[in-house]
Amino acid sequence: MKYYVLFGPPGAGKGTQAGAMVDRYHLCHLSTGELLRSEIAAGTELGMQAKALIEAGNLVPDEVVEGMIESKFLNTKNVEGFLLDGFPRTIAQAEALDKLVAKTGESVTACVSLMIPDALIQERIAHRANIEGRADDARPEVVQNRIKTYHAKTEPLIEFYKAAGKYKEIDGVGSIDEVRERIFAEMDRL
Ligand code: ADP
Repeated sequence: MKYYVLFGPPGAGKGTQAGAMVDRYHLCHLSTGELLRSEIAAGTELGMQAKALIEAGNLVPDEVVEGMIESKFLNTKNVEGFLLDGFPRTIAQAEALDKLVAKTGESVTACVSLMIPDALIQERIAHRANIEGRADDARPEVVQNRIKTYHAKTEPLIEFYKAAGKYKEIDGVGSIDEVRERIFAEMDRL
């Protein structure tokens, strides 16, 4: 089994590129953001707890997302691997992921990182707000807090995966097709 971490700041294009990656490498796409939004839409207890945190631009607790990922690992059959989109987002989550994957005798294959500058993050999210209607995209102060949270809690994962020799950085600036071809070129070598 392959375990790819699709990494990058909010608005880097992870969700946009995930579909093509899943098709080409026969992976199961697991987006913690999407999983949380479906919990909110279904009005579950977990969704209600997550809603306020997400709409303020904060992270939900590590245990919550770790539990969601573990249950997907256990219940997904007939795939060649997983594409983890938006997880891990903290060092604690990355350590939890290593433990989960180790249970099956495997390890994380690579961290594929889409990099874009902060100015472009805001521009892309402002554009997406008009298309997808996500509550956490609509308010500039919430977007600012997500960027701040990214730098404080998520960016340290770059060093974590570099130290493991698994960090593959892709320039996320360019057209959707250009970025996709860069990702494929990198992943074909893995
Ligand atoms: P984006 O990539 O634009 O930040 P996501 O859909 O990945 O959007 O995530 C939306 C929100 O869901 C995050 O801002 C955060 O509140 C919550 N979330 C998603 N993944 C995680 C995670 N791994 N840990 C904690 N919170 C998460």
